Order: sequence, then structure tokens, then C-alpha cells
Amino acid sequence: MKKVIIAPGDGIGQEVIPCAVDVLKIFHPEWEYQPVYLGYECWKRTGDALSSRTLDLLKKADLILFGAITTPPDPAYHSIVLRIRKELDLYANLRPVVGDGFDILIVRENTEGLYSGIEWQEKDRACTLRLVTEAGSRRIAKIASHCANRRRRHLTIGNKANVLRSDSYFLKISIEEAEKAGISVDKKYIDSLVLDVLQHPARYDVIVTTNMFGDILSDAAAYLEGGLGMLPSANIGHHQALFEPVHGSAPDIAGKGIANPVAAIRCVSLLLKYAGERPNALKVEEAIQKTLAEGIRTPDLGGRATTADFGKAVVSHLLKD
Ligand code: NAD
Repeated sequence: MKKVIIAPGDGIGQEVIPCAVDVLKIFHPEWEYQPVYLGYECWKRTGDALSSRTLDLLKKADLILFGAITTPPDPAYHSIVLRIRKELDLYANLRPVVGDGFDILIVRENTEGLYSGIEWQEKDRACTLRLVTEAGSRRIAKIASHCANRRRRHLTIGNKANVLRSDSYFLKISIEEAEKAGISVDKKYIDSLVLDVLQHPARYDVIVTTNMFGDILSDAAAYLEGGLGMLPSANIGHHQALFEPVHGSAPDIAGKGIANPVAAIRCVSLLLKYAGERPNALKVEEAIQKTLAEGIRTPDLGGRATTADFGKAVVSHLLKD
């Protein structure tokens, strides 16, 4: 029995997460599901984007299915996405990018770097501290090396060590961990890496990088799969994990019922894999592929299906097979 928190959040999170829940419940109707209300809309209504009760529920969950949160550039509002990752110490953000002839796993450090949350404003300047610690770098490099060891045994370290001292530190520690794990390793400056991943995705196996670089790299890599509606991610901590699409709350299409739910449904596949159910995870991916092959696609993929149409088609494939 697992305790699963369902946190759709804002915007299209409210539309895509129900499709993911329908899929998960096919495999595990017996698990305990608890919906929670959090995010920017919650902040506007209640003055609190993440209540201490909700945070407590998140901390006690085994698994969390998370949609997206709107984070306006308003200094009065603090990102709860970053806060949740820190409070639950979900230090590894795994973002698979898989397609015809390529299978990349982006491993993004999730708790420090430029998103360390250590920032302040002075009279005539604002500062954000880019924190890179030995412990933070070692644990992310370790998990990336471990993943590479179970795949094609190659690790690429995305960095900007030529100009950032914090990155030469990250690089040194990552190389040490890769060498300990006995995998091959190479390093690439993040700016040229983004282009090379788009031009030659088959060259890459596991890529490890710091927080913001990983955020940007994975959004860019979504291009390889047809857009942001396609990529899921897993935020792994010590005893629990949170699964969320790479995309945000997409206010430009929210409420229209046309958001692509593939990323959210793929989160269920990652969740099942994390729970040790690889065959079920594969079934979910197969059902997505069959639905796409039938031409059922949301407008971002050039189709006319609604979010609900796509979700129902995936469910019906899973119930048939
Ligand atoms: P976004 O990912 O929400 O949207 C970028 C573009 O991709 C938009 O044109 C959107 O319509 C499209 N898109 C995204 N997901 C889609 C889907 N499933 N189907 C079809 N089209 C999709 O990024 P943004 O516009 O930069 O940010 C919007 C809000 O989301 C901001 O407030 C931002 O802070 C927040 N955000 C949250 C998270 C998170 O919760 N983890 C991540 C990124 C952005």
C-alpha cells in the first residue's frame, strides 16, 4: 500500500493530472490517494501557496504526482516548487528524453546552484548566490553515475567551468564519482552542449549538470520529442519521490482543454518504474505510443484531440491489453 499525494497545482496542471491519475488507478486502485490544494491560485484565495498542513502531507507521502505551479515574477511570492524540492530534499531531478535513435537521461541537481534560494536585494543591485557544495555535487554525481552504469556506461558533465569557479568544483567532484563508478566520462560546456544534444542526440547517454543548466537543457531537449507537452520528470529524494511534467502551468492555453497530457501520463510510467514495476511502466508507454500512432494528438502535436480524448484513448488501450 502506498500513500500517493495528488497535487495538480495551477493552469494546465488541473487538466493533465486527472488523466495521469486515471492511468495510475488502473494499476493501483487500492493505493491511498490524497488530493491537495496548493499553488498560486491557492495563494490568491488563501494567502498561503503551501500551507504547513499540506507540506506535512507531502512529507509523509511515498509518492507525489504533481502538475505545475504558476510563479509570477513578483518578489512578494516565492516559488513553492523550489521550496518543496528543498523541504523534501528531492535532490535528483531525472529527465529522460527518448525518441527514434536516442535515449538520453538528463540528471539535474535539484536543491542548490543558482536556485539555492539565497538571494537579497540592496539599494542598487540584486544578488543571487550560486551555491555548489561538495555533498550536493557528490550525491548527484553518484546517482548519475549509478544510472549510467545501468545504461550505456557513459556520463557527460554539462558545465561552465571555464568561467565559473562553482562549476569547476562541480566538475572535479563529478569526474571523481564517475571514475569511482568505472564509467567513461566527458565534459562539455553547457552552451555548446545544448546545441550538440539537439543536433546529435544519439551521442549522449546520461548528462549530469547543475540546477539551472539542467532546467534549460531539458526544456531545449523537449524539441527532440515534439515539445514541452512530452517530457516527464522524477524528483528523487531519500525515501520518497515526486513526479511532474517538465512543462509549467501554460497560462496561454489553460482552461481550453487542449493541453497535451503525454508528459503527465509518462510521469505515471516513471512512478511505476520507481515503485519497481517496470513491466507496468512499459505498458503505459506502449499505450501512449499506440494512441499517438492512431493519430490522436493534441494541437501542439498538430492534432485536434482534447486532453480528455487523449487520456481516454490511453486508458482504453490499457484496459484492452
Ligand atoms: P510553460 O511550460 O508553462 O509553457 C511554455 C509553452 O509551452 C507555452 O506556449 C505552453 O502553451 C506550451 N506548453 C507547455 N506545456 C504544454 C502542454 N502540456 N501541452 C501543450 N502545450 C504546452 O512555461 P512558461 O510559459 O515559461 O511558464 C508558465 C508558468 O509556469 C510560469 O508561471 C512559470 O513560473 C511556471 N512554471 C512552472 C514549472 C513547475 O511547476 N515545475 C515549470 C516551468 C514553469
